[in-house]
Amino acid sequence: MSRLSYITIVAVVVLSATGIISIAAHSHSQSQQVAAASFRSSAVKTISTSTLGTSIKEIVRGDTSKKEVIFTFDGGGTIQSADTILNVLAKHHLKGTFFLTGKMVEAHPDLVKHITAAGHEIFNHTFDHPSLTKLTNDQITEELTKMESTLQSLTGTSPKPYFRAPYGARNNRVLSVAAKDGYQSVYWTIDALDWKNPQGETAAQVKERILSHVTPGTIYLMHIGDTITGNILDDVFTTIEARGYKIVSLTQGI
Ligand SMILES: [Zn+2]
Repeated sequence: MSRLSYITIVAVVVLSATGIISIAAHSHSQSQQVAAASFRSSAVKTISTSTLGTSIKEIVRGDTSKKEVIFTFDGGGTIQSADTILNVLAKHHLKGTFFLTGKMVEAHPDLVKHITAAGHEIFNHTFDHPSLTKLTNDQITEELTKMESTLQSLTGTSPKPYFRAPYGARNNRVLSVAAKDGYQSVYWTIDALDWKNPQGETAAQVKERILSHVTPGTIYLMHIGDTITGNILDDVFTTIEARGYKIVSLTQGI
């Protein structure tokens, strides 16, 4: 075999190998394109492609570079801890973060006005607290916009741009529809499980759960509608601040 033939054969082998690799890579990228296209086409009825990224991000944690934690208080029913939460926030000179339903805004207008007047943040927890994953796209939009108009007509403030899905029930479709409506999902880092009080969860257990997770950027989920939150909040804030952490609102901490 001449040297030239040898080089030719090697070159053909290399090219073939390259071709095989390139075919494989191409078909991989084709399947990715197909997946992306079907994601887009399934959502294209309600979302323009400019607002729909390849993945929609939600907030599950604040800034991890600072010794700061975020407490969020969800409200959709009863308000046992509301007054205490507001008193404790005032005592510690803090801005709080509330995710409220439209129904709660309607049922407790004085409380909601107080929350706004004190400079706390109110975001969207839907109107009627449904599992958004079980609703149509239009129903999801209606839940968000109805809460929004209810709050706006009472306080003149908008709950945009954040919402929290009731029960944490959300998927890509819910996040996509919410994004189209101008909302980003805020989940949580630690569920304090204060809402499990009726199932036997104690104040001591909730307090321990909170204090054992004080790390930079932790977002805590607590509720207005249980008694544990009001009972432990002052102690919890005092302990966390004694550890050199600041308690901040959502917009301050992300
Ligand atoms: Zn809720």
